[in-house]
Amino acid sequence: MSSSDFSEFVLDASAFYAGIPFQSSKKCFTTNAVYNEVKHIRRSYSPLEALIDAGNLMVIEPEKTSLNKVIATAKETGDSRKLSSADISILALALQLRKTLISDDYAVGNVATFLKIPVKTLAFKGISELRTWVSFCKACGQTYESCISVCRICGSRLRQRFKVVSGKA
Ligand SMILES: [Zn+2]
Repeated sequence: MSSSDFSEFVLDASAFYAGIPFQSSKKCFTTNAVYNEVKHIRRSYSPLEALIDAGNLMVIEPEKTSLNKVIATAKETGDSRKLSSADISILALALQLRKTLISDDYAVGNVATFLKIPVKTLAFKGISELRTWVSFCKACGQTYESCISVCRICGSRLRQRFKVVSGKA
């Protein structure tokens, strides 16, 4: 489990919808949470079991240490409220297996980038900048960490917005 092969993919639900595991000859990985999300959706795709039987799709549960690292990072970037438990599981698996994650979800991609997990997106442009969520006060303009919800200066409810941490283009 320690060697990394970034040509093998960890798939989130959007990758299944796009048919990635059916087009790829590479071994693919996912978690139970994602598998349960996708297995009943497109009947026409359905040979998911056949992929598993052939060893081309492996359903693996991430370890607790990987999950905790993802959860801590998502809190830092302010994405934790946007991540489902399936999102967290797939990030943890990609981190643990050191493989490329395929996902179209912006929050998933953002957290993956912070964790230095290589990400491929399907339909959307790649993540070209790192963003983090901040809270800000519309009344007085003060910004806070994303976990804070009320302005300490004027008591207004805070809004959330992205703050770009770094960007290439
Ligand atoms: Zn304020």
